[in-house]
Amino acid sequence: MENTADAIIIGGGIHGASLAFHLAQRGMKCLLLEKNYLAGGATGRSSGLVRMHYDLEPESRLAWVSFQYFRDWAEMVGGECGFTRTGFIHIPLPEYTDSLKANIDMHQSLGIPSLLVTARDVKRLAPSFKVDDFEYAAYEPESGYADPNMSTSSLTSAARERGARLLQGCTVTGILLEGDRAQGVRTTQGDFFAPIVVNAAGPWAAQVAEMTGLEIPVTTWRHDTMFIKRPAELRLPHPTVIDDANSMYFRPESGGLTLVGLEDGNPLGLSPEGNTDSSQPGFVERAIERICQRIPAMEGGALHSSHGGFDGLSSDQRAILGPAGPDGYYLACGFSGTGFKIAPAVGACMAEWILDGEPSTVDITPFSFERFASGEKLAGKHAYRDIWR
Ligand SMILES: Cc1cc2nc3c(=O)[nH]c(=O)nc-3n(C[C@H](O)[C@H](O)[C@H](O)COP(=O)(O)OP(=O)(O)OC[C@H]3O[C@@H](n4cnc5c(N)ncnc54)[C@H](O)[C@@H]3O)c2cc1C
Repeated sequence: MENTADAIIIGGGIHGASLAFHLAQRGMKCLLLEKNYLAGGATGRSSGLVRMHYDLEPESRLAWVSFQYFRDWAEMVGGECGFTRTGFIHIPLPEYTDSLKANIDMHQSLGIPSLLVTARDVKRLAPSFKVDDFEYAAYEPESGYADPNMSTSSLTSAARERGARLLQGCTVTGILLEGDRAQGVRTTQGDFFAPIVVNAAGPWAAQVAEMTGLEIPVTTWRHDTMFIKRPAELRLPHPTVIDDANSMYFRPESGGLTLVGLEDGNPLGLSPEGNTDSSQPGFVERAIERICQRIPAMEGGALHSSHGGFDGLSSDQRAILGPAGPDGYYLACGFSGTGFKIAPAVGACMAEWILDGEPSTVDITPFSFERFASGEKLAGKHAYRDIWR
C-alpha cells in the first residue's frame, strides 16, 4: 500500500468516517486507520438518537445541519443511514421549564421544527405514557433515530469512491514529528506520512493525544443500554424520548423492541477495552423500573438483551474540535455520549477548518482545545444540569 496521503485520520468511527467523506469530497486523498473494524468503538454501540434539542446553540446548529444529511442521506452521501422518523419529546425536570421554553425559542430561531407542548399533548402523541409528573415538554416532529453502523459504512464507502483508503486492523502507536510539525504516524503495519493527522479515536483519544505529549481532558464514559420486547398492547412504535424526570432516554427499535438508556450510573475512567458484551450488574433492573414509570404497560414486556459501550467524555461534556499541539495535528474527540447525531456537520466543519483555515458551515471554534487553558466551561445560556451524572 502506498504510504503517503494528504491527511491521516486515526479512528474508523462515525467521526473518522464523516471527516474522510468531507475531505474526499474536496479532493483530499485520506487514509483512515482503524485498529479493529469500522464502528467497532462508541459508534457501533450508539443508540443513534437524532434530535436537535440542546441547550448550547452551536450543538443545535450542528445537529440541525446533520439532520438534513440523515433525512436526505441517499442524495447527500449515498447508501443508507437507516433514519427512522418517530418524533422526539424532551421531558425536562419541572425546575427547568423556563430553560425549556428559552431553548425552544433558540431552536425555532435556527429554523428547527420544535414546539412547546403540554402534558396533555404528549398523552395524545403517546397514549401509553404516564404524564402526571410534568407540565411542559419540547416536541420535534421530524426527529427520530438512525443506524450508526450503516451511517459509518456508507460514509466510508462514499469516501473511498472519492479516493480515500481505509486500513482496518491497523493500530497507530506513535505520531511522527519533524520539529513541531506532524509528519505522519507509526502503526502496527508500518509508517504512513501526511502533513495532516487527525485524532478521532473516541474513548481512546487521550491515549492517542499523549503520543504527541498533549494532555487532553477526556476520560472514558461507560454507558449501558437495554432492549425490551413491548407487550402486544404496545405493538405500535412510540416517539423517541429524553425523559429527564426519570433520568432516562428511550426509543422504539424494529421488531417491536424499545431501547432504554439511563443518564445516571455511567462509570468514568474505566479501560475502554473492558467487556461490553453484557451490561453492568443492576442496570437492567433499574432500566426496567424507570421505563415502567413512564410507560406502565411495559410491565408486560420481556427483556430482549442488554450491552454496554464506551465513549470519550470531556470535562465539560462537549466535543473538542480543531487544531491542537503540533502543526498539522487536529482533534475531533470528546463527544461525551452525544456525538453520533452531529457527525455529518462536524466532518464538514473540520474539513473546512483544515482546508480553509476556518470552519464556515457552523462556527465550531467554541469547541477548540484552547478553552480549557482559559478555564472556560462550555455551557448553554439556559443550561440544564449535566446530562450524564
Ligand atoms: C452506548 C452508547 C449510546 C450512545 N447513544 C447516542 C445517541 O443516541 N445519539 C448520539 O448522538 N450519540 C450517542 N452516543 C455517542 C456517540 O455514539 C459517540 O459520541 C460517537 O459514536 C463517537 O464517535 P467517534 O468516531 O468519535 O468514536 P468511536 O466510534 O469510538 O471511534 C473511534 C475509533 O478509533 C479507533 N482507535 C482508537 N485508538 C486507535 C489507534 N491507536 N489506532 C487506530 N484506531 C484507533 C477505535 O477502534 C474506534 O473504532 C452513544 C454512545 C454510546 C457508547
